[in-house]
Amino acid sequence: DKQKYIRNFSIVAHIDHGKSTIADRILEMTDTIAERDMENQILDDMDIERERGITIKLNAVELKYQSKDGHTYTFHLIDTPGHVDFSYEVSRSLAACEGALLVVDAAQGVQAQTMANAYLAVDNDLEILPVINKIDLPAADSARVQDEIEDMIGVPAEDAVLTSAKSGLGIAELLERIVSDVPAPAGDLNAPLKALIFDSVYDSYRGVVLSVRIFDGKVKIGDKIKLMSNGKTFEVTEVGVMSPKAVPQDNLSVGDVGYITASIKTVQDTRVGDTITLADNPTKQPLQGYRKITPMVYSGMYSVDNSKYEDLRESLEKLQLNDASLEFEPETSQALGFGFRVGFLGLLHMDVIQERLEREFGLDLIMTAPSVNYEINLTNGEQLIIDNPSKMPDISEIKEIKEPMVRAEIMVPKDYVGAVMELAQSRRGHFDTMDYLDDYHVNIIYKLPLAEIIYDFFDDLKSNTRGFASFDYQITGYEPTDMVKMDILLNSEPVDALSFIVHRDFAYDRGRKIVQKLKGIIPRQQFEVAIQAAIGNKIVARSTVKAYRKDVTGPLYGGDQTRKNKLLDKQKRGKKRMKDVGSVTVPQEAFMAVLQSD
Ligand code: GDP
Ligand code: MG
Repeated sequence: DKQKYIRNFSIVAHIDHGKSTIADRILEMTDTIAERDMENQILDDMDIERERGITIKLNAVELKYQSKDGHTYTFHLIDTPGHVDFSYEVSRSLAACEGALLVVDAAQGVQAQTMANAYLAVDNDLEILPVINKIDLPAADSARVQDEIEDMIGVPAEDAVLTSAKSGLGIAELLERIVSDVPAPAGDLNAPLKALIFDSVYDSYRGVVLSVRIFDGKVKIGDKIKLMSNGKTFEVTEVGVMSPKAVPQDNLSVGDVGYITASIKTVQDTRVGDTITLADNPTKQPLQGYRKITPMVYSGMYSVDNSKYEDLRESLEKLQLNDASLEFEPETSQALGFGFRVGFLGLLHMDVIQERLEREFGLDLIMTAPSVNYEINLTNGEQLIIDNPSKMPDISEIKEIKEPMVRAEIMVPKDYVGAVMELAQSRRGHFDTMDYLDDYHVNIIYKLPLAEIIYDFFDDLKSNTRGFASFDYQITGYEPTDMVKMDILLNSEPVDALSFIVHRDFAYDRGRKIVQKLKGIIPRQQFEVAIQAAIGNKIVARSTVKAYRKDVTGPLYGGDQTRKNKLLDKQKRGKKRMKDVGSVTVPQEAFMAVLQSD
């Protein structure tokens, strides 16, 4: 009766509250990882995760726990990201579990993503086990945090587990509480196979590796499986669990979380959220799957080397397997050639995707400034959705432009209410409501244009509130707005990849600032480069990059050789991310300059 001794749980929390470190301690205490192989945040195994100190991908591991009740339990632990851009990873993880450890920093208390993740867990009918971590900190106040969990989230917290993931204090109790509080998986071993794909990754040897949770039945090597969304069948070549490296098993059965390979080579065949069953003994109903997720921002992505267009497509397809929230379609730019319009859940997501494509697939990319979707009603009665500023129709054809709005929830200590309001107002925000969550915390709701928050809103919010504000948002719909398209011309030629959409009230000011900025970014060339910003036919700002005089190393000849080499190096490195646009060489930063508000 193996099923009775399985516990499946996710660890969720606001960013930096200690999820990955708690996972470390659990892996250590259950001897899942030998001491000599232990590293901090060991489940953050991607280079980008280690360098940035954040979790980007969910990570599922199996471990064995010898409980005080005398039984050995199989735990499947899923560590999840905390940043709002990756909450899709969290919701997918939760669908594979019966319980969630809700980790809250004992000094920081409940934050916006604590609440957002707790609600996700509630929506998935999970048992929530509150954990107050970092109790070793001098500023820790677990009694206050207990109250916050009860008042702000509505989860009983008198029995919250108190831990210091740093020292290991409380982790032994936490393991026992997982046994007693998280329910064993339901499901029927004798029913036909029903398994949920909650993640996947492309492996050049084994093909697609599917991360699955088995809800009914079992699966083993040689079984013929069927993907229920498209009816495709494959023969299973391997099943196993991550512990934390892949460990092959004879079979996976009801309640298990593990992986399946089946020589799946065409990446389009698999979709996270799909249900797997057996071809000759199929289950009747697929699982509910995941709601489709819509990107928030779109950006053009081009290979520096245009001949790598097909490589870029293949890489995007493979990466999409491992990141189901990624969306793309082909687009062409006069300036940049053939590329893709790629949709992202936010700017951190965009940054991570660009970096993964460059690192994991060896591409050099140029990305254009991100833009939101605009809904445009034309005078001829048609409606357009544009995700690319260069597709904006002529002003004379436009009846109305609508932009996506968000409901932003900003949580701050009450002393910072003024600072938050000032910032939100300057970003075209409309105040909605303000609630006291307890004596100290205020939840401020603003309606804000999505375009105003995607870039540096969160950074500004943090700096205006000394880091105390936390923030969460949802798109609520489209509303009429007064936007104009700004074109940037280099030597009188408009560069489509540099155009952007801006609110009319800010247009002149932005035009001037961007022209100045580009002047500093575009290097000198053999000839003068005139930079202009224009709305329609009207030039609103201009500037000039003077012609190039001599080789940069010229004045150094006979001089300091190391300095000369440094300069040459710098030039070489700089070149990688340059693109010839007409006759003008433009560096990558130029395409992002339109974003920066100052
Ligand atoms: P995550 O973003 O929730 O996964 O958080 P991490 O596990 O990456 O931890 C964020 C930071 O908090 C890291 O620098 C950890 O070393 C630190 N940290 C985690 N747990 C504790 C703890 O119990 N006490 C203290 N003092 N620091 C901790
Ligand atoms: Mg983490």
